[in-house]
Amino acid sequence: MKLDYPFSAIVGQKTMKQALILTAIDPLIGGVLVFGERGTGKSTIVRSLTALLPEIKSIKGCPYNCENLNENCSHCSVSVKKLEKKPTPIVDLPLGSTEDRVVGSLNLEVALSQGKKSFEPGLLAHANRGYLYIDEVNLLEDHIVDLLLDVSASGENLIEREGLSVKHDSKFVLVGSGNPEEGELRPQLLDRFGLSVEVKSPRELEERMEVIKRRTKFDNKDQDFLLFWEKEDSKLRRKIIRARKKLNDVKISNEVLESCAKLCLALGSDGLRGELTLIRTSKAQASFENKDSVEISQLRKVASICLGHRLRKDPLDDVGSNIRVERAIEEVLGK
Ligand SMILES: [Zn+2]
Repeated sequence: MKLDYPFSAIVGQKTMKQALILTAIDPLIGGVLVFGERGTGKSTIVRSLTALLPEIKSIKGCPYNCENLNENCSHCSVSVKKLEKKPTPIVDLPLGSTEDRVVGSLNLEVALSQGKKSFEPGLLAHANRGYLYIDEVNLLEDHIVDLLLDVSASGENLIEREGLSVKHDSKFVLVGSGNPEEGELRPQLLDRFGLSVEVKSPRELEERMEVIKRRTKFDNKDQDFLLFWEKEDSKLRRKIIRARKKLNDVKISNEVLESCAKLCLALGSDGLRGELTLIRTSKAQASFENKDSVEISQLRKVASICLGHRLRKDPLDDVGSNIRVERAIEEVLGK
């Protein structure tokens, strides 16, 4: 079996790790947009989720990873077969994937040999209950990005064509990475991602050396290294499982709600989407910290990743979005 780099052993990249942990606690936060140059290890971080996240139970042989009797599933609609454990799916969507490959298509082989209409599940089926990762999402055709965002918001994939009518569950967290210098995403698409983070290669000498040291140990399958980080991953996994259970009981006071609204007003972020994401994400953060209610300190920790990509361009203000968010946080929430 191919070994994935341990999540906890990744040096730095705090914000991206935080965003992935929070979406693992509450997938309804929505997708994560990752900005950064090539070679910053974005895909390593996403792949390392395989080792970090708890296994899922799913019905043996089901291509949609169902856990229960499911009328939406051709495989599990009649009786529940044996359950098996498998890793949380982390599915790669390669650039140049056709729409058929993404949403699924008519299985021509079955159609020709047996004269039956049979559905061949696509990437949206495999990603159900997991993550869907697209490197260079800004180079993907807009209509496919649109489609992915639609499905991830509704949790269902509906295919109606070639005489087929199939609907199946497709609940996943969309993670798209992109280099802003190679093409921008339309603002309407930007706003539909829950969170955004910026990743950079480590600039500090010590940090760079640490990256190399750990990578070498990993490549050499150093047993002490693997054992140590496996333990760290399982500590983190337990925290995520605890946070998932606690999430629905986390309270949010009117005072904190008011601060959320003020923050969004101060930044002029359009619509309510930013505010709703801010509330949901700060709850996940509070739950991760084992708090019973959201405090201003959690709001502070998530504001930038929730709002950074939703700011209207201000022609008189050319500072980066992160700095504008930081300024607004200071104004509204105090230092
Ligand atoms: Zn099923």
